[in-house]
Amino acid sequence: MPPEEKGEVEYEVVVVGAGIAGLACARALHQVGVQRVLLLDKYDGVRSDGAAVLLYPNGWHALEALGLDKLKDVYPTCHLRKQTNLETGETKEMLLTGTVDRPGIGVRTVHRKVLLQALAEELPQDNVRFTSRLVSIKSEPASGKTSLNFTKLQLDDGSVIRTKVLIGCDGVHSLVAEWLGLSQAAESKRSIIRGLAEFENGHNFSNELQEYVLKDKRGAFVPVNGKEVYWYITHDTGPRDLEATRRPKRTLMQVMHNLAEGFPDRFVNVVRYSDPNTVTRTYMLYRSLWGLLLGRPHRNLITVAGDAFHPIGSDLSLGSCMALEDAVILARHISSSMRNQHDREDAIEAYVKERRWRVAAVAAWSYMSVWTHHNWSELGFCGRAVKFLVEKVFDWFVGPRIMKTMNNDCRDLNSGGY
Ligand SMILES: Cc1cc2nc3c(=O)[nH]c(=O)nc-3n(C[C@H](O)[C@H](O)[C@H](O)COP(=O)(O)OP(=O)(O)OC[C@H]3O[C@@H](n4cnc5c(N)ncnc54)[C@H](O)[C@@H]3O)c2cc1C
Repeated sequence: MPPEEKGEVEYEVVVVGAGIAGLACARALHQVGVQRVLLLDKYDGVRSDGAAVLLYPNGWHALEALGLDKLKDVYPTCHLRKQTNLETGETKEMLLTGTVDRPGIGVRTVHRKVLLQALAEELPQDNVRFTSRLVSIKSEPASGKTSLNFTKLQLDDGSVIRTKVLIGCDGVHSLVAEWLGLSQAAESKRSIIRGLAEFENGHNFSNELQEYVLKDKRGAFVPVNGKEVYWYITHDTGPRDLEATRRPKRTLMQVMHNLAEGFPDRFVNVVRYSDPNTVTRTYMLYRSLWGLLLGRPHRNLITVAGDAFHPIGSDLSLGSCMALEDAVILARHISSSMRNQHDREDAIEAYVKERRWRVAAVAAWSYMSVWTHHNWSELGFCGRAVKFLVEKVFDWFVGPRIMKTMNNDCRDLNSGGY
């Protein structure tokens, strides 16, 4: 019996997950002219909770490619990153104003909700399905009867969708990544608490990313605009922290009275001015470097993007920018395969090939940055010596590479392809 007679709908591409990665993928595919793209999410709408996202130049280059650089006019550029070690009192400064060849693109902090809404605009509403949880995936390889590979997706309401291409943007606990056999994301034993402070009469902070480091804790704040300030704090996570997770008010209290102990008043004050509804705590999960390098994130026209591909739980907050880059590069390869009548599998393979090394490099620098926050002093003299060495290696070798990573330009949707 043909699929339509069995009540099965057929699509060219199905994107699972309407977070930053999924919305960006759907938008990019729509822009390059792929017809019949369906975007699915298990929630009843775009999940716009969360505070804000720090977008580095690589994120802005991707947004330019997606036609969303208008957001640059709404948010002020942050020019400087100041990192103060609260144990030694030393402050390091780093200029954030773009690259030599493309000066001025800078770093901006964007409301997560605004970014999601901007990515979602112009998506044909008929091609977005909420309250639709993917529960199983079955690949139907090409056989004698059909020369095409199809994937059957079963949703929790019992409906079945057939698609030629499946892109899993379903986050760190991705079902698609599991189907592909990628290693499970492991716990980093660190978590990040984020929030948004609002100063009704404006604040006096300059457009700088101010970071404080104290033992295992790293707190930062940065203005989003003249009234709002985004902040976050990362820290080693113990079992007691688990209890506070679902209670934003308690999380806020925990930051003010416990986690931010020893932090300057200006940081605590920013936290105090936050609406608990903007506060989220996320356990940072990561896929090992070997998992990223040796895993096979594509098979039978099925692949992953965003956190489903590369959960890199670290203090660097690069997840959103990397997800935007994924979308541009994947859509570019798919569009190039359409133009040149190449096989889609080759397009997806080319996407994975292009992303794998970049993702692994970003993960390596991110994981190394975590070492600098390890409490080496507990190990006595040897620990202090190791800490000194780690910090020197970080300053000379890792730091500049992280900056390069953040300035990467993924280019526009039509430049090249495989
Ligand atoms: C609620 C929330 C708040 C956040 N707040 C911030 C913040 O303030 N600042 C910041 O820097 N980062 C924040 N992040 C993290 C950041 O957005 C992501 O790390 C990054 O953007 C990568 O996004 P992603 O689209 O790959 O994954 P996610 O943002 O996790 O999106 C995955 C999507 O897949 C959907 N999904 C999962 N499984 C299924 C399934 N089986 N079927 C259908 N749909 C499924 C989920 O509902 C979700 O919408 C937040 C993430 C979330 C989920």
